[in-house]
Amino acid sequence: MTKYIFVTGGVTSSLGKGIVSASLAKLLQARGFKVTIQKFDPYINVDPGTLNPYEHGECYVTEDGAETDLDLGHYERFLNIFTTQANNVTTGRIYQSVINKEREGAFLGKTVQVIPHITDEIKQRMQLLSTFGYDIIITEIGGTVGDIESLPFIEAVRQLQWEMPDEDCIVVHLTLVPYLKAAKELKTKPTQHSVKMMSENGVHPDIIVCRTEQPLSKELKSKIALFCNVKPEAVIEAADARSIYEVPLLMQEEQLDVIVLKKLNITWFPEPDLTVWKGFLAKLLHPKSTVTIGLIGKYIELQDAYKSILEAFIHAGAINECKVVVQDVHSEFITPENVDEKLEGLDGLLVAPGFGLRGIDGKILAVQYAREKGLPFFGICLGMQMSVIEYARNVLKLSHAHSTEMDAGTKDPVIDLMEGQKSVTSKGGTMRLGAYPCKIQKGTLAYEIYGTEHISERHRHRWELNNKYLDALQQAGLKASGTNPETNLVEIVEIPGHPFFIGVQYHPELKSTVENPHPLFVHFVKAAKAFAARKDNLAGESLPNELV
Ligand code: GLN
Repeated sequence: MTKYIFVTGGVTSSLGKGIVSASLAKLLQARGFKVTIQKFDPYINVDPGTLNPYEHGECYVTEDGAETDLDLGHYERFLNIFTTQANNVTTGRIYQSVINKEREGAFLGKTVQVIPHITDEIKQRMQLLSTFGYDIIITEIGGTVGDIESLPFIEAVRQLQWEMPDEDCIVVHLTLVPYLKAAKELKTKPTQHSVKMMSENGVHPDIIVCRTEQPLSKELKSKIALFCNVKPEAVIEAADARSIYEVPLLMQEEQLDVIVLKKLNITWFPEPDLTVWKGFLAKLLHPKSTVTIGLIGKYIELQDAYKSILEAFIHAGAINECKVVVQDVHSEFITPENVDEKLEGLDGLLVAPGFGLRGIDGKILAVQYAREKGLPFFGICLGMQMSVIEYARNVLKLSHAHSTEMDAGTKDPVIDLMEGQKSVTSKGGTMRLGAYPCKIQKGTLAYEIYGTEHISERHRHRWELNNKYLDALQQAGLKASGTNPETNLVEIVEIPGHPFFIGVQYHPELKSTVENPHPLFVHFVKAAKAFAARKDNLAGESLPNELV
């Protein structure tokens, strides 16, 4: 029997529902339960794949090739599990499915309505993963209680609670308790209103998690409990944490998992085993050295656009006992005149994934800088494609080399649209998506890093290295060290002899977790550490003896 926990949010967005859900899931998993998390998003797009990062942050891709909300990345990173297409559902997908059924005649004679047809579809999808034998399914409801768009989801939760025994389906409500500086007081009124609004929709929270900048006193917890009609022990403080990875431990101190299990009427459970997690956190919070990595991208003003890359650096930094400072460098503003000045002082350089022409020249200049200066370089997807273009232009001397994505008529299309993409016209879910195998050549840097010949990584792209140029590129010294065994598509390029220069057509950042930091990130940070140490030694040597 699967039990259900719904997580709703009140007062404002960006309270960290995804992190609280993932933290609760982690605590339950650490107690031996089989747990998964899913997210139901109220917007009308069928998935976030067509959304600009400015709208929605990063688009996270699952093994099975679904383009999903970035919270699924947190779920995977916290739980060390794979999520699927079924773990992220939007209003758009619900309506698409109901309308398709209507066209097929499934409701012949009936008026199709929000209740019951839309809510039935939502409920069915909320319970879909139960066939995989989960003890507990956590469902995060996107948006904020009170949004018009969220109403059918809240109604579906109401119906499920009505249909199921009380102890099989509970609601955790995440809310904000703001601190008013002028009054020197924490305020509970927004929480009361948000709970009231949800109650008007027929759903009453079993547990209230309060985001707060200041500690919640016992009195304040009692006040929230009284006004919101929950027991005082069901009011949980969620204070600001030093790292998102500290949140499971803060939630454990507040006994969130214990009260959840009590409400679910699960009476026997082992102590949580968080040894690996705590070991990771200790290293993360007490680094022994620092490296600075330049992140060359065009969405750098957005915290969420490169979420998985930033998290992968956190995992890789911890295992290297090293703080990774990611310095954002806007590719649009890198020019031949200022490239040295902009990139000097970095210990490594990552050229980010992306689409379209904006900022491309800056990315190519950054690759050239890293290649020529022996600076550790890591190119991901578009970043890898830019490394191929840079090599073709500056080493092969094909001065017009480009990608047909940016220059459709280029004389030397070293990056070209994949054959299978040429007839594709519709946009949603039509890229090369999800996990594909890659065979690595022995004796290469990639082999040294992965330690195996056969790997599988996730993809999200339409363009590829044009194999017509492969021989020339390889003869000039760029090595294709990993290829797809069926299609020969180049997956990894590297430059032998360079301290660390690697470009990958896939997205390794999507598979980095706390328990399994991605080897490419781990080795890249290691190379950056070595670069920084060399720099320090040289700096020491160049100083007059009496000053050292
Ligand atoms: N725009 C490039 C392509 O579609 C790269 C995509 C990416 O970086 N994810 O091939």
